[in-house]
Amino acid sequence: MTQHQPVGRFSRRDPRYDILFEPVQIGPVTAKNRFYQVPHCTGSGWERPRTLAGLREVKAEGGWAVVNTEYCSVHPACDDVPHPTASLWDDGDIKSHSLMTEKVHAHGALAGVELCIGGARMPNLGTREVALGVTSMPNLAGNPFQTRAMDKEDIREVQRWHRAAALRAKKAGFDIAYVYATHGYLLAQFLSRVYNTRTDEYGGSLENRLRLTREIIEDTKEAVGDSMAVAVRLSAEVNGGFAGDGRPDPGETPEIFEMIGELPDLWDINIADYSLEMGLSRFVRQGALEPYVETIKSMTSKPVVTVGRFTSPDMMASWVKRGLVDFIGAARPSIADPFLPKKIEEGRLEDIRECIGCNICYMGDGKSVPIRCTQNPTMSEEWRRGWHPEIVPPKGSDSRVLIVGAGPAGLEAAHQLGKRGYDVMLAEATRELGGRVTREAKLPGLSEWIRVCDYRLQQIEKLANVEVYRESALGVEDVLEVAADHVALATGAEWRRDGLGLNNPGGIAALGPADRIYTPDDVMAGKIPSGPTVIFDDDHYYMASVLAEMLRAAGRPVTFVTPADVVSEWGEYTMDRWRAQTRLMESGVDLVLAHNLTAFDGEAATLACEYTAGAKTVKAEALLLVTARRPRDDLHQALAESIAGGAEGAPRSVKRIGDCEAPAIIAAAVYSGHRYARELDADIDRDNPLKHDRVFFEDA
Ligand code: ADP
Ligand code: SF4
Repeated sequence: MTQHQPVGRFSRRDPRYDILFEPVQIGPVTAKNRFYQVPHCTGSGWERPRTLAGLREVKAEGGWAVVNTEYCSVHPACDDVPHPTASLWDDGDIKSHSLMTEKVHAHGALAGVELCIGGARMPNLGTREVALGVTSMPNLAGNPFQTRAMDKEDIREVQRWHRAAALRAKKAGFDIAYVYATHGYLLAQFLSRVYNTRTDEYGGSLENRLRLTREIIEDTKEAVGDSMAVAVRLSAEVNGGFAGDGRPDPGETPEIFEMIGELPDLWDINIADYSLEMGLSRFVRQGALEPYVETIKSMTSKPVVTVGRFTSPDMMASWVKRGLVDFIGAARPSIADPFLPKKIEEGRLEDIRECIGCNICYMGDGKSVPIRCTQNPTMSEEWRRGWHPEIVPPKGSDSRVLIVGAGPAGLEAAHQLGKRGYDVMLAEATRELGGRVTREAKLPGLSEWIRVCDYRLQQIEKLANVEVYRESALGVEDVLEVAADHVALATGAEWRRDGLGLNNPGGIAALGPADRIYTPDDVMAGKIPSGPTVIFDDDHYYMASVLAEMLRAAGRPVTFVTPADVVSEWGEYTMDRWRAQTRLMESGVDLVLAHNLTAFDGEAATLACEYTAGAKTVKAEALLLVTARRPRDDLHQALAESIAGGAEGAPRSVKRIGDCEAPAIIAAAVYSGHRYARELDADIDRDNPLKHDRVFFEDA
């Protein structure tokens, strides 16, 4: 077997998927196939133009026929800082965008820009402009500012800004301009029966509430429609029921289609509930919007696109064949695998890196950092580190590499090193490969996470130069005996039993008896508490709520205690938080929020209020601690000592990667494994390990 993966030219796509590769006309432009990367946040916005051009280029290269920006502010009065938007405020913004459009065009794809007017969703914290609103209403992001109720002059201004931004988009080389009339931004506020209480011709009847959207569509078509398509992003349930996962009420959407269904060149259909639209696999299945969008195409002759975390080509083809959509819209599947269309086209389905629905990508927007992905460690690194999602440089030497531990870090390192052509030995202590991913994927709702392991194992199987040794717990002697040139320790981490965590940096002294104290590792190994259980969450992400759900389903009375004010506080950034707390409350888990754990004696847990320090006890026979993890780095230490003592068979380098180096999220472990593989024998400038992106300064 060669060091490279089989390439597509030897295979053909399955004729069942031919329909996905038909060109589709969108007004004055034509998409070469039906793969459509919808606008999605990147955490970079106007601040990192080269990063964005790089990540969008690989999507175009990977076969997406349309590649869109994230939301693009048309004026300083729509400033979403600290969330990074793109911007087209003046001509000085054009260059950043043309960088992207040139790269997207170079691969035969169309470039789209999602022009956005924020209204009450944007507080303008950066620019200090007063936000404009359909009425004077509170900032929808929770800031203590209200909007200025827009008068007629403001309405004309907004129209002018949108038009000017569309004209700049044309200069930047875009093929598609959006009119963004959903997701709670200004045009959606005008459409809303609740927010729009105006008494002029922009309020009242649907015709009036739709007027601004209609005028902006007409104006955009008039300004740029000769060469650019105009897309409208709209909810499938404007003023309909907020139906959660049930059968939706389409509200006024059918009437809107009767009025303007033929006006734009394309409809990009969403729903109001973000937590369903970009739902976590923990709560929402693939293609979940079907009941919302199934009638849209019958209301318009224009092409329709929607999303559904589509990774199955069968489902994609079925949606097109059944007349639900013209385009397969994707944000997350295009992030996890920018080459998804190419792989389908080349009949390489087993090479698809399927999105796992964890929403780590969404965290980039909330935290204002470049987007990252659990499955695709190269996302946002295309330009600054020169990482391509499919190509790695050939090996830099004939070194043999030993990787200890086959969790996500070890698997990724083995896969990429193997692809580079190194001789790799991957040793895993247990029979099962995949480490934490394999264990966690068995927990309620997390089954799709196994894709992190499956994808890598499938790739490794193709590489004759990677040998996998199961049931091989290596000690120092074993490692030295292998006499590898380089050793990567990917031995992971284990949950702590001493309570040490964010809110108890020194641990919790008064814990006992030991046989009544559990950790997530125990539960995942099948050791389940038998009686009423306190789960103490000082980790603040998904693990504690998933285990609470699991114990409840097993009939245990559960009290969920956390020093935070909410369940899964960090899950705010991945959208775990709201649904996790709802699920716990609905399943009868008692919540004790804003309380720290001070003691447990086998019969009761003692808690202290975070605000008043007032004490409280909760009867419990078991305590499940979800606090922090201890790196499993004993082998690293022992090896270091042995090498320092002049041991024979010592490798040239020993490095910890993944959770063994620093326990973190799975995305970090994959990234760490990837980076190790890329950087072996590479000439990395330690003073400048990555390129520093910055905006172009050009006077408008
Ligand atoms: P990461 O997230 O960093 O990849 P995991 O905890 O998921 O870490 O995986 C670490 C893997 O390493 C586990 O499957 C564990 O069984 C394995 N492992 C730990 N110590 C050894 C060892 N000494 N020899 C071989 N495998 C080990
Ligand atoms: Fe999918 Fe998770 Fe990657 Fe987002 S971070 S694209 S949800 S695998």
